[in-house]
This record gives sequence, structure tokens and C-alpha cells, in this order.
Amino acid sequence: MPNSVSAADASTLSAGAAKIDITDYSAGPVNDPLYVKVVAIKDDSLTTVLISVDAVAIGEIGRIKNDYLPTMRKRLESELGIPPSHVLVNASHCHGVILPDITDHTVRAVKEAISHMTPVRIGAGSGSENRIMENRRLKLKNGQEIDVRHAYSLPPDEEVAGVGATDPEIGVLRLDRENGETLAVIYNFACHPIQGVPNGANTADIIGYASQVIEDNLSEGTLALFLQGCAGDINPAYYKDVDHPRSAEPLGNLLGLSTLKAVRQIECKPDNRLAMLNQTLTLPRSDLADKIAELDAEERRLLGNLQGTTLNFKTFMSLMLKHKLSPEFPSYYSHRYLYDEVQERSDLRSLDAQNRKAVQAYLQNVFTMEKLTRLQANRALLRKHQTNMVDSGKRTIDVEVTALRIGDFVLLTFPGELTSPVGMNIKGNSPHDLTYVAGYTNGYIYYCPTVEQMQNRGGAQEDSDCLLAPEWQEKFETTAAEMLKQL
Ligand SMILES: [Zn+2]
Repeated sequence: MPNSVSAADASTLSAGAAKIDITDYSAGPVNDPLYVKVVAIKDDSLTTVLISVDAVAIGEIGRIKNDYLPTMRKRLESELGIPPSHVLVNASHCHGVILPDITDHTVRAVKEAISHMTPVRIGAGSGSENRIMENRRLKLKNGQEIDVRHAYSLPPDEEVAGVGATDPEIGVLRLDRENGETLAVIYNFACHPIQGVPNGANTADIIGYASQVIEDNLSEGTLALFLQGCAGDINPAYYKDVDHPRSAEPLGNLLGLSTLKAVRQIECKPDNRLAMLNQTLTLPRSDLADKIAELDAEERRLLGNLQGTTLNFKTFMSLMLKHKLSPEFPSYYSHRYLYDEVQERSDLRSLDAQNRKAVQAYLQNVFTMEKLTRLQANRALLRKHQTNMVDSGKRTIDVEVTALRIGDFVLLTFPGELTSPVGMNIKGNSPHDLTYVAGYTNGYIYYCPTVEQMQNRGGAQEDSDCLLAPEWQEKFETTAAEMLKQL
């Protein structure tokens, strides 16, 4: 007898989806709504709840406070019987402003999703998008790294030697109703959604636009739930553009369309594989006192480098332009220089030489000022984490790592801002083809750069807005690999 399992015999998963607008309309103008979104999935014995919030982080910074995760989970347990370890909540990391009572809205969205559970067929796949983002860490010729932020200036172009890697993969899980209509799309991608919109209003940024494009182009009522990936070192493309209004809309539309391309290639099947593992990992914290002292010394050195010149900004700008426009004859028409030559005078040439020297000195002061702003911004981050560590009285921090399988879709989550090399390591070492990694999940522990990136401590946000010691990376990646093996 051939295998003859009929569709009716094959066990399937059930799923329900819901979203609730959590935009704080009292906080100022709104460009597009921010949501809490839920996809609940269950088999015979297990209900898992995936939640995404259009917010900067699950605790620590922004509107979501540290009691959100435990309180929300406790309520889901007491009101719906869902164990805390089966609840996963990811922040899209957009910098929009949400309502303060986010716990109530989350619980309400979960209840709504659970009340609409329906049998589903599922499928997973990968898409690709490489046009909307860039690695924000620049490798400099002096061996240091610097990141692309609005908080400070970039160094002169000629000091930049190279750029870091990006991961263009979009992880996609498609959930279809039994009649073939799409119920939900879960997608994972790595990029800081911080491009903003030209009018400066509240926005879910790239993710808001991407999800809207996906929802508008599939069956009526489809929910697109985004899981932010390893975006720690990934910025939107043209993040520092000052010649065009910066807008998340074209970037989000491209991400949405690339996700749809992958969605359409996925064939959904009955599949009842659902598993979730949950582990607390204790990671080492860094003592940053020496690094802070080093930066204090560097600050004194830079301040000592500032030299007085005869110029101010007004005279510097006009001289700078004239010397760029006509390096040979900056101060007057060429005939006057020729006339000087005939008369065996060098008055104009002498003036130009003095001015060139003054312009150079003024420019050096500008570059020193830019270095100082970078140093101060990054040292402030180091000081904040050093104070927090001293206040906590602990040299370790506990984080929650989860591993999830829904059919072929495999997800590993972590609370920090993982950088792209970490994500690619975990994917590369996973025994499962369709493995994706989500940072910003079930808590927030700031940036988590690689050991190599950490050598640049104090030089860029990712290595400064960080409380971990370098040993964290191996510990986490080993745990991640073990958990993925168990799925
Ligand atoms: Zn960030």
C-alpha cells in the first residue's frame, strides 16, 4: 500500500491574528499608525503567541517600561492559561511614540487573536532586499571604526577605508486559511527603522510602510507581523542625506514588495510542527572604567590640539571657497598675478600662502571639534553603563533566549541589538535551512557587538552603548547553536 494519508487525516496547526492601533495621538502630529500585532499559533498541546510592537524596545528605553514583559505575561497566564515561556514579543525598533498603557492593549490583541483561531496551512521561505540599508560602521584607514549617526559628524571622506557587511535575507512564514486565503505573514529582516518621514511626524517608519504593502496586496484582513533582526549595525540607506527629504516610505515599499515576492513563491501545506524552547543565559558585564579614563586622556589631548588662527567662520568660508575655485589664483584675476611677476613682486603669492596656512589650521580645529563631539557622545554611553553596573552590584546580566519552530520556519531570539555578523554566524551554524534571528525580543540589553567590534570601544555607538564583556559572544552563539539543534 502506498502512503495514503488524506488531507483530513493530516494534523494541522491553528492560528489567529489581530492588531490594535497603539499610536499616541496626543503626542503630536501622526504620519501613520503604530500597532501591537499578534499571531497566536497552536497545536494539540501548545499555544505560542508572537507579538510585535512598533516601539523602540521592550523595556529600558522609550515608552515600554521594564514591568511590561512580566506583567503582560502574568496576565496572559492567568486570563488565558498561556505559560510565560510561550510568549514572544519583539520590538520593531522604530522610534515612534506609543500609548503608555501598552500592557492592556497587548493583552486585548492576544485575546482577539485567540478568539479567531482557525486551521492553517503554512510554508516558509526566504526573500532578498539589498537596496534599502547599509552597514553603519565605517572602517577607517587608522584601523578604528566609526558609525553613521545624526549625533555626530562623519570623518573626512579620505579617512574611510571600507564598510561592514549587511544581510539581505528576509525570513518569511506564510500562514494560509484552509480556503487558500492568506491569514498572516511573519517576516524577519535587519534594519534600523529610523529614516523618519519628511513632515517629522510620528511613524512606524520602514516597517509600517512594508507591513502595509504586504497587507494591502494579499487576502482581505491579512496581518503582516514583523520581527526585527540583527539590526545593531544596520542603518537605512542615505540616513544622513541633507539634499533630499528623508523618507521611510520608498524604503518600506521596497521591503514590502520584496517580501511579497517571497510570499508568492511559498507553497503552504498542512504542517503541525510547533516547538518553543526558552532559556535564561547569564552573560558577563564589562568594567568600563579603564576605557573611560583613556577617553578622558584623549579628550585632553584633543583640546590641547586646538590652535588659534586669525580666521573666524566667515573669513574661513570665503577663503576656503576661493582657494577651491581657483587654487592657482584665489585672491584676484590671474592678470594681476602675471603683472606681479613682471614687476618681480610676490605680494599676492605671499598673501595666498599665509591664507592657505590659516585655512588649514582652522580646518584642523574643525576636525578636532568633530572628534571631540564623537568622543563625548560615546563616552557618555560608556559612563551610563558603568554607573548602571556599579549601581546593580552585579557583574553579570541574565537574558532570555528563545528558539521557535513553526513548520520549516526556525527562529532564534535575543533581547539585545545584535549586529549582523552575529546573526549570520547563527544562521550559518544552524542545522535548519530556514533559520532566522530576531534581536530586540523579550527584553532589551542595548547593543551587543561582536568581540572584534568591541575592540573599538568608545569609537562608535554599538561598542559604547553596550554593557557586555567580549566573552558574551561565544557564550551566546554556543547556546544558540545548542538550542537550534534541539528543535
Ligand atoms: Zn538601535
